[in-house]
Amino acid sequence: MTNLNASPAPAKQSLSQLTSCLSDYDPHAIPVKQAQAIIHDCITPVTAIEKVALRSALDRVLASDIISPINVPAHDNSAMDGYAFNAADLLSDADTELSVAGTAHAGRAYEGTLARGQAIRIMTGALMPDGLDTVIPQEFVSKPPGSPADSVTIPLAAVKAGANRRLAGEDLKAGSVAIGQGRILRPADLGLLASLGIAEIPVRRRLRVAFFSTGDELRSVGEVLDPGCVYDSNRYTLYGMLQRLGCDIIDMGVVGDDPQALESAFRSACENADAIITSGGVSVGDADHTKQMMAQLGDVAFWKIGMRPGRPLAFGSITSAGKQALFFGLPGNPVAVMVSFYFFARDALLQMMGARAAPLPLMRATAAVDIRKRPGRTEYQRGILSMNDGQWTVRPTAAQGSGILRSMAEANCMIVLAHEQTDVASGDTVEVILFDGLI
Ligand code: AMP
Ligand code: MG
Repeated sequence: MTNLNASPAPAKQSLSQLTSCLSDYDPHAIPVKQAQAIIHDCITPVTAIEKVALRSALDRVLASDIISPINVPAHDNSAMDGYAFNAADLLSDADTELSVAGTAHAGRAYEGTLARGQAIRIMTGALMPDGLDTVIPQEFVSKPPGSPADSVTIPLAAVKAGANRRLAGEDLKAGSVAIGQGRILRPADLGLLASLGIAEIPVRRRLRVAFFSTGDELRSVGEVLDPGCVYDSNRYTLYGMLQRLGCDIIDMGVVGDDPQALESAFRSACENADAIITSGGVSVGDADHTKQMMAQLGDVAFWKIGMRPGRPLAFGSITSAGKQALFFGLPGNPVAVMVSFYFFARDALLQMMGARAAPLPLMRATAAVDIRKRPGRTEYQRGILSMNDGQWTVRPTAAQGSGILRSMAEANCMIVLAHEQTDVASGDTVEVILFDGLI
């Protein structure tokens, strides 16, 4: 069953409405946090839902709360291989010998009836027979010489009453929320959903994101590199980042610095996608003709963010043929593109996807060297984090230029130096964001 809502959700408020109420709004010096907050307020998530098979739900955004239809576990069962008995049958001042009436295996109910003073041999996961409440692991029982073969001795005070018994519903009660909507489903979630017997999962439809690189100097992979030209690498970093975010991507390649070509690319992107991401053409040199063209197509602010790298950023919405799309105009420099994507576009796209993503965790590490830092801007330095003498230490990669993509590939984290932070001395604690986590 698919319910595809093709029209993208419109922005809630126009940017000019949002920024007009900010007393300290200066598009030429906007702090990272303020830009993030304005972006956050502009976004409406896509609403359409589709149902997918359990495996296909991996990395998708859960569209509604999943209510557990059953108790997990469904019945009281044993947490150990051992012997089940009734704790009330134990002597209070000596070891207790109990007769063993039979064996309970996982997946098969124990059929026999038990008399007081009887125990059974029980396997992990086997149902606890009525009347028995405690399990002693097999390695804790004793077998005094001369005791009958069908008996077991529970040493005094070896286990507490009720031990090693998993109670019905202790993992999850029938009727309670197993996973909340907005969750990006991970391997553990798939397992949990399977444990509830749920085969079809409601997820938000994928976000469609169109992207293109701008610049007359750009050449595509496979083309000859003319003098003064560079290969278009942003196309590939953006592809990688959008793909990992789980978007449906529309890769529009390179568009030259020509207002007409740009306008038709923007119109086509807008008519086919929920969000548009471009790189290049938003710095001082290029922004003027882009600005004029944008003024006709949408509500776009051109910001200079107090950050490094990634100072210029265009953000807003574009409208064409009655369709509206969110727009991020990222800087052209390859590192600046990635950093602005991670710290602005990523959260916005997750929000549009309907995801309730926790903020990226910041980890604390010791600076291995002095790091220069000017207050009044947020710096995202590429770092190499390593474990030394039991301590996480980090050093910036050698080159920090915003065009040096090699440093991004070399790094395994970003060192985040906050707006007001001044120079960091070797041995100081800094915050880092790791590039990779558990799959
Ligand atoms: P711009 O923001 O358009 O002025 O571009 C800034 C710098 O980034 C220039 O040196 C561009 O050549 C470079 N650049 C822009 N787009 C790309 C791209 N797609 N791939 C690699 N470099 C780029
Ligand atoms: Mg350019």
